[in-house]
Amino acid sequence: MRSWPQPKLYPLSKTPVQLQLFDAAADAVTPIPLPAKPGELAGLYVCGITPYDATHLGHAATYVAFDVIHRFLLDMGYQVRFVQNVTDIDDPLFERADRDGVDWKALGNEQIDLFRSDMEALSVIPPQDYVAVTDSIDEVIALIARLVEGGVTYSVTDDEGRSDLYVSVSATDQFGYVSNADRETMLALFAERGGDPEREGKRDPLDALIWRAERPGEPAWDSPFGRGRPGWHIECAAIAANRLDPGSSFLIQGGGSDLVFPHHEYTAAHVEAAHGIKRMARWYTHAGMIGLDGTKMSKSLGNLVFVHKLLTQGHHPAAIRLSLLAGHYRTDRDFSATLLAEQQRRLESWQQLVTHEVDPALAVAVTVALRQRLADDLDTPGALAVVDAACRLVLGAGGYVDPFLPADEHSAVELVLAAMMEFVASQHADTLAAIDHPGEYIAHTVANLLGVALLETSVGSDSVTGQACAPVSAGDPSNRSDAAAPAPAGQVAQSTTQQADDEFVCDDADSAAGFIDELRSYHQGQHLSPEEKACFDPLLDAAVIDALAKLWDVLPGRLAACTGDARVSAFAAWWGEVLLVNEQAAGELFDDPADAVRIAAISAQLAAAGGIPVTLARQIVQTRDAAELAAVRQELGVR
Ligand SMILES: [Zn+2]
Repeated sequence: MRSWPQPKLYPLSKTPVQLQLFDAAADAVTPIPLPAKPGELAGLYVCGITPYDATHLGHAATYVAFDVIHRFLLDMGYQVRFVQNVTDIDDPLFERADRDGVDWKALGNEQIDLFRSDMEALSVIPPQDYVAVTDSIDEVIALIARLVEGGVTYSVTDDEGRSDLYVSVSATDQFGYVSNADRETMLALFAERGGDPEREGKRDPLDALIWRAERPGEPAWDSPFGRGRPGWHIECAAIAANRLDPGSSFLIQGGGSDLVFPHHEYTAAHVEAAHGIKRMARWYTHAGMIGLDGTKMSKSLGNLVFVHKLLTQGHHPAAIRLSLLAGHYRTDRDFSATLLAEQQRRLESWQQLVTHEVDPALAVAVTVALRQRLADDLDTPGALAVVDAACRLVLGAGGYVDPFLPADEHSAVELVLAAMMEFVASQHADTLAAIDHPGEYIAHTVANLLGVALLETSVGSDSVTGQACAPVSAGDPSNRSDAAAPAPAGQVAQSTTQQADDEFVCDDADSAAGFIDELRSYHQGQHLSPEEKACFDPLLDAAVIDALAKLWDVLPGRLAACTGDARVSAFAAWWGEVLLVNEQAAGELFDDPADAVRIAAISAQLAAAGGIPVTLARQIVQTRDAAELAAVRQELGVR
């Protein structure tokens, strides 16, 4: 099925930044592996709409959140295969068509068109496979046939002699691992969200309907199980499993938080039972719900806010997108007219920033900081705060101040950004010299990662133009991949550059050993200027060196014990431990007030080198007295 036009993307610098995302199955934020080789495939499935009430802000928030994840995966160097369905066979659609006295197909088509134009306006990268259930009936039947062959299905016949097909909840041993819900909760949610736990004749109340025999007035298709139509979860199961590689490169199954149970639990269970695998997707990630002025947005309350209505009222699509990114994707949060008006102001400030004269070091610092915030379970509020801070550093009093963010948070972000600028200026002269238009550099980064176009007013172009983002891997200029050339048009959605970030892969023992030496020398500050080394020295006390020495020693063994993806994951885990040691060391030093300035700088430098979050600087700002803070700000050149 036709999707919608591709938003403009600039060539992406594939910087080895470790993206961490919340996985419902692990009930924790866990690292997504860096691609082991350039262009490695990552499967992304985000459950699509049931085509009525499209597109309200709750839908939009989910699709925009996964769009940022999609963009980050491309930025990491993955080639993303993005699949989305349209649930155009579903009880709620039939009920709505019935209520309004319209044909369900006509209603569906009209709503799908609306959805496409909303997604295009919101700069959401389209799926390569946009698949209607009505176009996938054969696939669904084939998947059901596998379950039937596996002997895990049975029929329940009603008084009229109609036989519906169910699949046993015990078809897989691991049922329940996605939501981690207990049976009582499962039963309640199943009843609430389209399930039929009370139906007589079922072997287990939690068994799911996979084929519903034809009823009067309902659409139906011929099948080996009689005329009828698919159940809800088996639809996504078939569409996902036939296009992504379940149990392998199927990286993320996404959707709203109301899909965790039953929908994603059952989708995974159906696929796993049919394919004989233990786990369909590697991450199950969900977006929070959107309320309006303090009340949950729902069709029953009649307070849904629609994207197309906001657009008709003249609101800028980028401001609508920013309203959805201003809160964390997993948080249930509110939309309001005030929030939207604030985003319009923010957008104007950002537009001023990128057309203003900007220090190239700031442009690079913004890029690094933006990636870091997003890498931390998609901290979009933090990412927006980075660009805001850049606005204030460049535009002074005219720069945007987010009224929803505490003042000390503003200061913390400015502090980090200024310290990063210093670091970048001292370490990346070559990169900085290659940036002709620092404002555009920021604009391209913001467009690529956040999907907010600051220099172009039109959307829907699939061309790649303009100055390429010179890639930066702060911490070691030799880590740079060479992504200066624009990618050919039409190949944008599949990452743009093919050079490996080999330094992070360690393909053989020699390069692993060399890399470890490089890291060791980096950590010991051997590549730093004497002044910078002085900043690091306090970190290198005996206990820290001892802890790090142990880590250096175990790394070769850990890398040798695995290959491919597992090796990258092992390295990522190890790197996390190194950063933890550093952070703890800095935390201890933090007790001495005289070190505040130095720690802020160390924090920012480590952050620029690829890992320590802004938390240290935030602590400094929150606990230091005003005079001391003023000294820090003066030293770092923050107004
Ligand atoms: Zn689905």
